[in-house]
Amino acid sequence: MAPIVIVGSGLAGHTVARELRRLDAETPLVVVTRDDGAVYSKPMLSNALAGNRSAASLASADAAGAAAQLNATVLAHREVASIDTGAHAVAFTDGERLEYSQLVLALGADPIRVPLGGDAADAVMQVNDLADYARFREAIEHATHVTILGAGLIGCEFANDLLTSGRKVDLLDPAPWPLGRLVPERVGRDYANRLAAAGVAMRLGASATTIERRDGGLRVRLADGGTIDTDAVLSAIGLRPRTQLAQAAGLAVNRGIVVDRNLRTSAPDVYALGDCAEVEGHVLPFVMPLMNAARALAKTLAGEPAEVRYPAMPVVVKTPAAPLTVAPPAAGAGGGWRYDEGTDGSLEATFVDAQGNLLGFALLGGAPATRQLLTRRLPAVLG
Ligand SMILES: Cc1cc2nc3c(=O)[nH]c(=O)nc-3n(C[C@H](O)[C@H](O)[C@H](O)COP(=O)(O)OP(=O)(O)OC[C@H]3O[C@@H](n4cnc5c(N)ncnc54)[C@H](O)[C@@H]3O)c2cc1C
Repeated sequence: MAPIVIVGSGLAGHTVARELRRLDAETPLVVVTRDDGAVYSKPMLSNALAGNRSAASLASADAAGAAAQLNATVLAHREVASIDTGAHAVAFTDGERLEYSQLVLALGADPIRVPLGGDAADAVMQVNDLADYARFREAIEHATHVTILGAGLIGCEFANDLLTSGRKVDLLDPAPWPLGRLVPERVGRDYANRLAAAGVAMRLGASATTIERRDGGLRVRLADGGTIDTDAVLSAIGLRPRTQLAQAAGLAVNRGIVVDRNLRTSAPDVYALGDCAEVEGHVLPFVMPLMNAARALAKTLAGEPAEVRYPAMPVVVKTPAAPLTVAPPAAGAGGGWRYDEGTDGSLEATFVDAQGNLLGFALLGGAPATRQLLTRRLPAVLG
């Protein structure tokens, strides 16, 4: 019998393998990954500099260790080039084929790159996996000033982390406030002020056009004519689900690889989860959704079909200078934001519908108990 094949060894691929092994210790299992197969928690990448953590120290196991833990074959540094859903097989870039009984796509997402001009556009870095982090850490070893493009969750977290590690930071975004997809304006502006008070140079409404080399460093040119002289540039513009493999194989693809609540794609015996997947219209590139998906999918793979449920899943933004928890309302939800300033300097924003139901919140500062209370009042994302 052909093995269950999981493509991707990130949190999604590894967690589904681990959960499957809880239910089924024996069915042959192969994990394929184009990286080195190390097991690590990706969220640690954006708060590791402050603790001067090396990439190696962030990995809890290498590929051999993962294989032993999972009673699986881990094929590291192997890239899947195509899927033949009719023949139930994947082909690697070298042409070799591997048959599967069931196939799990846990392919992650690609960082979006903004088109930049200048002779140093290729010096712009991004951090989306452990190898990127190793390169970034080495590149900024002697840097005293780092410029970040994009004030989303990842850009803000790196800004705080770089600051704590003793560097000057400029954080650029064309939008008028950071975390624009996650928080309303009032929270975004307050959050920006807190990061600025901690020392981050917030450049909102600003966008980079070119990156040039100058003596021993880089010069970022801005659309408004301004310049920033800096030692390194990190891009954190956003992520796009990796759908190309699935699309080429004829699977239904929208923003992500389209799956139902059983995590089934449109092809028989092919499943998807994590950052590459769109689960009943939800593309949620965070840890909690993929953990829930992995638990459900493991049951299905083990022969007990199970549907994924998403409870309310607030995201904690790891910026100690401005502690923030966000649970944005669903796109298009009817209602409005209300604000409450706490005597402890916290700002609580709640999104409430006409009946008074809480549909989302953003909590800047504030006690963990408040966060828990708000979370309990939220509806499930997928009940
Ligand atoms: C810096 C950073 C900080 C974050 N912080 C948080 C946080 O605080 N909280 C939170 O909830 N979320 C956070 N996230 C998001 C969270 O980390 C991701 O949602 C999650 O790690 C995605 O896991 P994944 O397994 O889907 O994808 P990935 O970890 O990207 O794994 C994809 C895997 O697919 C493999 N692969 C891809 N294509 C192929 C191919 N063709 N052949 C073989 N292998 C292939 C890759 O090698 C890799 O192993 C953060 C993300 C980043 C980048």
